[in-house]
Amino acid sequence: MTDLFDKLMAGGPIRNAAYIGGRWMPLQGAMLPIVNPATEQVAGEIASGNAADVDRAVAAARAAFPAFAALPASERAAYLDRIRALVLERTEEFAQAISREMGAAIGYARNAQVPLAAEHLRVARDLLADYPFQSMKGTTAIVREPIGVCALITPWNWPLYQITAKVAPALAAGCTVVLKPSELSPLSALLFAQAIHDAGLPAGVFNLVNGTGSEVGEAMASHPGVDMISITGSNRAGILVAQAAAPTIKRVTQELGGKSPNVLLPDADLAKAVPLGVMAAFRNVGQSCSAPTRMVVPRAHLAEVERLGAETAQAIAVGDPREEETVLGPLANRAQFERVQEMIGVGIAEGARLLCGGPGRPEGLEQGFFARPTIFSEVATSMRIAQDEIFGPVLCVIPYDTVDEAVAIANDTLYGLGGHVQGRDVEQTRAVARRIRTGQVHINHPAWDPHAPFGGYKRSGNGREYGEHGLGEFLEVKSILGYG
Ligand code: NAD
Repeated sequence: MTDLFDKLMAGGPIRNAAYIGGRWMPLQGAMLPIVNPATEQVAGEIASGNAADVDRAVAAARAAFPAFAALPASERAAYLDRIRALVLERTEEFAQAISREMGAAIGYARNAQVPLAAEHLRVARDLLADYPFQSMKGTTAIVREPIGVCALITPWNWPLYQITAKVAPALAAGCTVVLKPSELSPLSALLFAQAIHDAGLPAGVFNLVNGTGSEVGEAMASHPGVDMISITGSNRAGILVAQAAAPTIKRVTQELGGKSPNVLLPDADLAKAVPLGVMAAFRNVGQSCSAPTRMVVPRAHLAEVERLGAETAQAIAVGDPREEETVLGPLANRAQFERVQEMIGVGIAEGARLLCGGPGRPEGLEQGFFARPTIFSEVATSMRIAQDEIFGPVLCVIPYDTVDEAVAIANDTLYGLGGHVQGRDVEQTRAVARRIRTGQVHINHPAWDPHAPFGGYKRSGNGREYGEHGLGEFLEVKSILGYG
């Protein structure tokens, strides 16, 4: 266990909340509470930064850029490898920090939040083995160069994973970065900065400034010394970032909200598809942007889907995230808890049929931001619960009569992030997958693929993360004519 970890878990005030130019630095802004969502108790405090801290971090990143960009790809790969090894070696520390800052069940933090985060580091490293940074088209050389200093803003739902999804490809590309994690989940980000430090990454290549979106995030988005800003978060924050970034014409990539459909075709194997669909919707307590929260089901099978769905939801162990057998811990914070309670009330008021769950905490849990796994049936696509991202364990079952209608329902949303199709007929599942207007579509719950580009159509964002496409976002394209 690192000293930093012991300090974080001790729960005192953390003033050294910035890592700039290879050193830990104190921040002078307001102290922000870190609330443990399982207990509602303050689990520590973290100092926040301001625009002057962002200036310092951007200056450090600018100074480090030329040398880092000029490194051979193999050396950047070696750094990524060392960072990954340290993250995996410190899995337990990261898992404990994540569980405390956003409530993930400890088993889930250990087996999903941390190892999946490490996968982005592995993929970025592997891509460097033969990434085509230069290619020829006739006598013109097409060169792909790092875009420069990248500001990265991340949310609290998958705190480490969202960080590595941006930092790994940025470093692989040869960019230098300034990271602002969510002010609600700063602990794992501090541990990540320590891992970067211990991996020996040159000073200034990676910088971290903690603080709020309106102060630190806004300063990063508008900063003239930043070449690109990448945000994962709510649509509200994504819009504000794009607006702040516009005058400096920097590249903006946005990974925003979702309301992803899960189309069960008439020949789907319901005994498999329904439990898997419910668990996918409730994974991470429903706090995943691509969670398939709208189950679109053939009306003829509605009763069977309802029975299997309720059975699955009612069997989920909700409780203390420190317990090994807990599947779902609490929601990550009070705002999220209140939002979920409000939306369950909206669903009832709109006349959707409550199959299981509902308002309030699960029985026996009087404290903590715990919600009841909730399924509504006979949801109409016009209802707010079918349109608004809830970001909690609330699933909408929407019946359809024809496959064309199912596709129309799937696409009847402002979002376009994830999508699922279940069915036995291979041709039909493929055809429906192609008709869904989202950045990813999963057929019959395949294994997670860290190489598959991830990102949104429509209001779910701009740009792609993960794998080769994720790396490409951090590159400029230069044509050198008359090269060959
Ligand atoms: P949020 O928008 O409140 O915060 C996200 C980040 O943006 C935080 O670091 C926050 O400080 C920062 N921020 C807020 N206002 C800002 C501003 N004006 N300028 C700059 N930065 C600002 O979102 P959240 O509640 O942390 O996360 C939940 C949201 O994130 C959901 O909508 C979810 O769908 C979305 N999300 C999307 C993806 C994806 O890949 N598409 C992944 C995870 C989460």
